[in-house]
Amino acid sequence: MADSLEIPKRIGRLNELAYNFWWSWHAEARKLFEAVDRPLWRQTHHNPVAILRQVSIERFKELAEDPTFLRQYEGVLKQFDHEHGPRETWLKSHYPDLCEKTIAYFSAEFGLHNSLPIYSGGLGLLAGDHCKEAGELGLPLVGIGFLYPQGYFHQKIETDGSQSANYRPLDISRVAIEPAVFPSESERLVAVQIESRTVYIAVWQVQVGRARLYLMDTDVEQNAPWDRELSARLYGGDRELRIRQEIVLGIGGVRVLRALGIHPGVWHCNEGHTAFQMLERIREKVADGASFDEAAEAIRKTTIFTTHTPVPAGHDAFPSNLIEKYFSDYWPLLGIDQARFWSLGGHQESWGEAFNMTVLALGLSKRRNAVSRLHGEVSRKMWHHLWPDLKADAVPITSITNGIHVPTWIAPEIKILYRKHIAPDWSERQDDPVLWQLVKDIPDKDLWEIRRKLKLKLLGFIRERARRSWIKDRADPIQLIAAGTLLDPDTLTLGYARRFAAYKRSTLVFHDMERLKRILLNQRRPVQIIFAGKAHPADDHGKHLLQSIYNLAKDSGLAGHIAFVENYDMHVAHFLVQGVDVWLNTPRAPLEASGTSGMKAALNGVPQLGILDGWWPEGYNGSNGWVFGKTATELQENSEENDGADAEDLYRVLETQIAPLYYLRDTDGVPRGWIELVKETIRSIAPTFSMRRVVKEYTEKLYAPAINGKETQDI
Ligand SMILES: *Cc1c(COP(=O)(O)O)cnc(C)c1O
Repeated sequence: MADSLEIPKRIGRLNELAYNFWWSWHAEARKLFEAVDRPLWRQTHHNPVAILRQVSIERFKELAEDPTFLRQYEGVLKQFDHEHGPRETWLKSHYPDLCEKTIAYFSAEFGLHNSLPIYSGGLGLLAGDHCKEAGELGLPLVGIGFLYPQGYFHQKIETDGSQSANYRPLDISRVAIEPAVFPSESERLVAVQIESRTVYIAVWQVQVGRARLYLMDTDVEQNAPWDRELSARLYGGDRELRIRQEIVLGIGGVRVLRALGIHPGVWHCNEGHTAFQMLERIREKVADGASFDEAAEAIRKTTIFTTHTPVPAGHDAFPSNLIEKYFSDYWPLLGIDQARFWSLGGHQESWGEAFNMTVLALGLSKRRNAVSRLHGEVSRKMWHHLWPDLKADAVPITSITNGIHVPTWIAPEIKILYRKHIAPDWSERQDDPVLWQLVKDIPDKDLWEIRRKLKLKLLGFIRERARRSWIKDRADPIQLIAAGTLLDPDTLTLGYARRFAAYKRSTLVFHDMERLKRILLNQRRPVQIIFAGKAHPADDHGKHLLQSIYNLAKDSGLAGHIAFVENYDMHVAHFLVQGVDVWLNTPRAPLEASGTSGMKAALNGVPQLGILDGWWPEGYNGSNGWVFGKTATELQENSEENDGADAEDLYRVLETQIAPLYYLRDTDGVPRGWIELVKETIRSIAPTFSMRRVVKEYTEKLYAPAINGKETQDI
């Protein structure tokens, strides 16, 4: 906790608010911390714990006597106490028997807020959003993951377009985490064996509304220097560091829960990285006298596995020497021999020598899901060989399409519109499609003005960042241009932000430069594109793609119509998904499992132009955005030969549909046709792709049947 001594009693609960990420998705609570100290709010990138550490005693005294602040404070606390008290939740009214059954959610990353940089992208954001929503619906969920004390890297782009990756040590006193409270005071560390050494794990807790996260950290004195480093960074090492991390995540994670006295009724594993936890739970049962087969059958019943990867090569797998090295002492504890152990990882010729974590997880979970309908089909085909007796469409992997945590991703300005024109309590009923019919009642002019305001906010954010790098890093002037200082608020603006992985085809739009130039620089209907995203530090191809885009952003021939925003993270993502006019998504189908940034955009009235991949075949209805290119079902395989045709199609849609619609204005300056499409985007996408719908679906299809011991899984 912060030095609560310094905070006057009258406003003493600021501390409690700062240590629960609940504040981050409640506008009133955010405003409260902003009111504590506005410059600090900006300087700390919205970090209440850091603010409370820096505010002077005089300022606290002032606030404690400021009637406006006190009114705000009381209002926020009232809501906080209401939501955290014994209220009626969705779970209580729909599944009263599940209220006491803890769900343990294992994930290598969690994206909650920028001040806790333990996520890299979509997988982590999904886990973070899932925890937030589960708590709100009343699910007793605990997350298990890592505190990476050096986090994920900060991206800086040099003048030549090369990416440098900086890891900044986390100042724990400025993050909303606290040491976990164990039932027995003497027990503060949890142990796992790695090779013949004991590695100790410290545990931190994070409060996320009503849900709680436990984060493991091996940076403790008792450990050897290399083990202290083990959990320092997210995706920062080689395969060997990775297997050691996954041993801590899986095996350590189970032991942490046991030491905390938590007895989960369901174990949800997010992606294959977490799958060693299944082995550990089998080991416990074998130690109690069960046979391996009995133990495995028992743990399968309560295990849920979510897969996110539609390409075989993308699955986490370890070579045989690493498995020998780290598990030859472990498989005897499971009561099985080497060959049997190997078979759990699907070790077979066609997969090479690797021990595959997804195969392990699929085999040891009874309920399994992919993250969009299309990804479900792809996954059932991809894993058909594991169920050779079944037809491909009967392979027991269902799908639950991803969604987003609405309060986290909505712009405050848009929220006000929804409250006024849809319903004051729209957020309580956010997954009800009928409610969203009322979007039509928002006055066109109001919606258009807010959309413009959000674009100005984005451009202001970009300019402010450029100013800071101009002052602080003495940036080269050309870098200020590449960063987007020449962007024009009246120009149709496309946003593209994602990891620079090859399959995302970030450079597709540059396929025919002359054609693109004509579109961007069109006198009457100009277009500009804002890019953002990180390349994995070990991915040279990704870094190369990034560099080529950055160099185009510097190119005077494109007149500042291409911009690159550095260090894509949740903070940048908020401005981008809320501020652009069109969200662009160009993956090579069917390689995008779901994608979620287009959903964030849609919630804020930003339609998507995308390939029919991931969630988009379910989201697109013909009048809420645009599609281009070949679809996954038309494609036999994902060959690069389609790139040219896809790019051509993209240009065609942009030129003949999007730009004309955007620039067609009524006499009052409002583009009526455009706003109609924006409304249809919101109406059709907001309820269906909300995390509320997602967590309810997990509960109905997976959690409840697992807890009630239902034998089979529906597909
Ligand atoms: C939402 C989000 C992602 C995931 O976006 P995709 O559409 O799945 O690529 C990645 N990074 C950040 C910072 C995000 O906010």
